Amino acid sequence: MEFSIVKFFVLAAWFFCGIALLDKMNSNPAKWNRGDTGGASREFLTLFFGPVFFLLSQQDSSFVNSLKNLFNRGKRTIKYRDITIIDSHGAPMYGTDCDNPAIDKLKDVIILAVAKRASDIFLDPAGERMQLRFRADGSLINIENFTADFGDNVVNAIKVAAGMDITEKRRPQDGSFAAECSGSSVAFRVATVGAFGGEKVAIRLLGSEVGPKTLEDIGFNPEQLHLLKNAVGLSSGMILMCGATGSGKTTTLYALINNIDFSLKNVISIEDPVERVIPHVSQMEVNAKADITFAKLLRNALRQNPDVICLGEIRDEETAQIAVHAAQTGHLIISTVHSNDSVDTLDRLSNLGIPFRSLAATLKVIVNQRLVRRLCEHCRQPLTEIPDRWKEYFSYCRFPADHIYAPCGCPECNGTGYKGRAACFDILVIDASLRAELEKENTSLSQIKTIAEARNAANSLTYHAAYLAASGVTSFEEIDRVTLALDGGIQ
Ligand SMILES: [Zn+2]
Repeated sequence: MEFSIVKFFVLAAWFFCGIALLDKMNSNPAKWNRGDTGGASREFLTLFFGPVFFLLSQQDSSFVNSLKNLFNRGKRTIKYRDITIIDSHGAPMYGTDCDNPAIDKLKDVIILAVAKRASDIFLDPAGERMQLRFRADGSLINIENFTADFGDNVVNAIKVAAGMDITEKRRPQDGSFAAECSGSSVAFRVATVGAFGGEKVAIRLLGSEVGPKTLEDIGFNPEQLHLLKNAVGLSSGMILMCGATGSGKTTTLYALINNIDFSLKNVISIEDPVERVIPHVSQMEVNAKADITFAKLLRNALRQNPDVICLGEIRDEETAQIAVHAAQTGHLIISTVHSNDSVDTLDRLSNLGIPFRSLAATLKVIVNQRLVRRLCEHCRQPLTEIPDRWKEYFSYCRFPADHIYAPCGCPECNGTGYKGRAACFDILVIDASLRAELEKENTSLSQIKTIAEARNAANSLTYHAAYLAASGVTSFEEIDRVTLALDGGIQ
C-alpha cells in the first residue's frame, strides 16, 4: 500500500492534536465531566473532533507553545490541581482529587496571586458581576470578572475553608486558611462583609511577600543601622515603629527581632496574626473570638520572665499600660503604633492614658516609615529635568539630577511602571533634651514637635524619599504621595 509522506504528516498532525486535546481536558477535568460537551465521551471527542476543537481553542495561545507544554510536562508551571487547601483547624480539604469548578477557580486565584506577588485579593460585587482584583506592590490590578452566581460559589468555597458561616452574608466575619503546594505553604487571612449588591471579600496573603529579612536589606543608612542595632541590644525600654497600615512596619519589626542574640535573650512575641515563623522565639497569637487579647497574652508572657517582648501593636489602654510598666521593669518592648509620625505617636500613647513623664522614662527610639514603589528597571524613562515643585528642595539637599526617572509600563511590571517597594525612614531618638521636655509639667505637643523637627531636619522622611528619587529608585509622583501624606493625616 502506498503511504505518501503527505498522508503521514496529516495523520501525525491529527494524532498530536488529539493528544493535545486530551491534555487540555485533563487540565480542566471539571469542565469536561460536567457535561458541557453534550454528553459525548472524552475519548470519542478526542479521536474525531480533537483537531477541530484543538485548533478552535488555540485562539489565545500559539500551537507551538501548546506542544512545548505537552512535551515538558515535568517542567510545567503549577496548576490548581497540585495544591491543597488547609482549613482553619489545620485539616486538609479540597484535595488534589477535588472536582468542583468554584474550588478549582479558588486554587487558580491563589496560584496567580502568589505568582504576581500580590499582598491582597479582593472580590467585590459589581452589579451583575463579581470583580476579582489583586493588590501588588501597593497598587490594584483588575484580574477577572465572574458572573454573580459563579462568584457566589467561589466566595462560599473561601468561607468554608476559612471556617466561616456561609449562611451569614451581611455581618462582618473573619477567618483564615492556608494553601499547600509541594511542601511549602502560604497562609491567608479572610474578612467578609455584606455590601450593596452582595458580599465583599478581602484576603490578605500572610508572610508571602518575598520581603527583606535583615535590617541591612530593608534600606536603612549606616548611621540608622548603627542606632537600631544598639537599640535592640538595650536591656529595658521601648522601641516603637509607626506608620499607616501597609507602611511596612511589621517587616521592620521582624527584622529588628532577627537582630537579637537569641542565645543570650529569651524573646516572646505576641502577634495578630503570626505572619512569619521566627526560630527561637515563642510566638503567641491573639484570638479575638476566644477573648485572647494582646493585654491578656502580655500579662501571661511577663510571668515567663522574658528579656524582650515583641508586641504586634499597641492599640488599647490596657495593653499600653502593661507595656510601659514592663518597659520600666527590666524588659525591652518592641512594638508598633498606628500613627502618622513620631510626634503623633507620643500623642497617641498619651491618649491611651500614658503620661509624657512615663514615656520619658521608657521610650528610646521611634522609627517612622513609609513605602514607595520602586520604578521598574526594564521600562523606566529618564527625565531631563526635576519637576518645579522639587527643584528648590533638591538644590537645598544638593541632590544631582542626572539619575531621575519617570514610570512607563511593560509586561515585566504588569504595565504599572513599578516593581517592588523601597522604604524610607526617619528615626527619632529620645535623647536628654527631649526627655527633659517630656518631663516638664507644662509641656505641649507643639513644643516637643519643634524640638524633634529642629534636630531631625537633615534626617527626615522627606529627605530620604527625595534621596530615593534622586538615585532613580522611585518617581516624583511616589515621593509626592508619601510626603503629602505627612501633612494630610493617615492615608
Ligand atoms: Zn516595566
